[in-house]
Order: sequence, then C-alpha cells, then structure tokens
Amino acid sequence: MKDTVKIMGIDFLNTNKKALLEEIITRTEQGKKSFIVTANPEIVMLARENKAYGKAIHKADYMIADGSGVVLASKMQKEPLEERIPGFEVMTDLIDYAAGHQLSCYFLGASKDVNDRMIDKLKELHPELRIAGHHHGFFDLEDQEIVADVIQSKADFVFVALGVPRQEFWITKYLSSFDKGMFIGIGGSFDIIAGEVKRAPDIWIKLNLEWLYRLIKQPFRWKRILKVFEFILRIISKRY
Ligand code: UDP
Repeated sequence: MKDTVKIMGIDFLNTNKKALLEEIITRTEQGKKSFIVTANPEIVMLARENKAYGKAIHKADYMIADGSGVVLASKMQKEPLEERIPGFEVMTDLIDYAAGHQLSCYFLGASKDVNDRMIDKLKELHPELRIAGHHHGFFDLEDQEIVADVIQSKADFVFVALGVPRQEFWITKYLSSFDKGMFIGIGGSFDIIAGEVKRAPDIWIKLNLEWLYRLIKQPFRWKRILKVFEFILRIISKRY
C-alpha cells in the first residue's frame, strides 16, 4: 500500500483514522508542531484555482481525505485510499483524548453565539477538559490580538473553524509563531457541537452520502456541489 496517493497534484495520506490519531497524539505529546488539512473535492478544486491557497495547504504535515469524492477519485485512479477520515471525528476524538490526558484545547471560530454555546456544551460533556481559550471567527486575519491569545494559551490542540480558505490561511500565516501544538481547520464542526447544524444520520455517512444530506439541509450550497462534479469529471478525463 502506498503511503500517499496523489490526487490532482495533492498528496493524500493513505492511512486510517486510528493510526492517524495515534501519530498526531504522539507528536503533540512530544511537543512537536503539526498542521492538518482535512480536504474534500472543493478544497482540491480551490487549491487548483487559487495559487495562494494551494501553496498554503501544501504546507500541511497531514493531508487527509475528508470527503467521499476524494476516496472515490482514488479508487478511479486504481490507487484506493484506505478510508475516508472525517475531520469532525478527528476533532471529537482528539477532544475525548485531551479530556482524559490533561491536554489543552483552543477553539477558534464560528459566530460568537455558536462558539459560546459550543464551549458550554463541551464543559457539560467533558467537565475535566482543559479549555485553554476560545474566540469567535469573525475577525480580520491580520488581527494580532487573536494570535497573541492563542500563543499565550499554550494549547496542545488548536481547532480552527473559520471556513475554507480562511482557516488554512490563518494557520499558515501564524504557524511559525508557535513553538508547539496541533493546528487543524475543521470548517463547520463547531456548529454541529453547538447543535446549530445536525450531522447526517449514521446510515447516510456509511453510504458515503453525507454530502447529499448536507445539500438537502443547506440547499444554498448547490454551487459547491457543482465543484464536486467538476472534480469527478476531471478525474475521469484525467484533466488535472
Ligand atoms: N466562519 C468564521 N469566520 C468567517 C467565516 C466563517 O468563523 O469569517 C465560520 C462559520 O461560522 C462556520 C464555519 O466557519 O462555523 C464554516 O462553516 P462551513 O460549513 O461554511 O465550512 P466550510 O465548508 O467552509 O469548511
């Protein structure tokens, strides 16, 4: 099995969620820094169209396939990725681990209301979790106070939910200012924890239809789905 699979110029890690989590946790406990990108077809397409974004995500230590479309593309290329690794699950599993092992977390992103409600929910679910800090996601990327707050928090895990491409731009802009910590962009995950948005029922996830569930619930996203079709067509016709 290959360690990575190249899909439209991006090297995806060929691993499973358990092995990935073990590696990230070990690195973090050793005080090493890491940057994780949880990529779906929209991200791959954006990296193709927006050079600055492409450059940012190429800095990732771990590029993981969060998107059935990416796994499908790997199968079409006859280099199947082991499994889809949903960013949402990476985040919740790391929170569970952090709570049990005195590691601390910073939560950056979403609206103030969602961010506050998510923190209340996490305190309820994990009273022992060390919350190093949190802040909503509607600020200027140049804002130095935000990054200073995250640095002084010395968080082990920094969850960044600013949406694509802001979250990867924020992480790569400031990564060198940090001595340690794991940084991951996780899109709309805070909205799910806060109960603002529902994740698809398990059966939809098992059938690789989480994207369809999201489209039905949030039809204004239809334009994004067109990008997924364009992605698949490019894979079929090998026009990268
Ligand atoms: N968001 C944010 N700041 C912004 C734009 C978006 O914090 O300037 C948040 C938004 O409130 C939501 C998340 O980022 O919680 C993006 O969610 P979405 O489902 O759009 O994720 P994407 O598909 O863009 O990764």
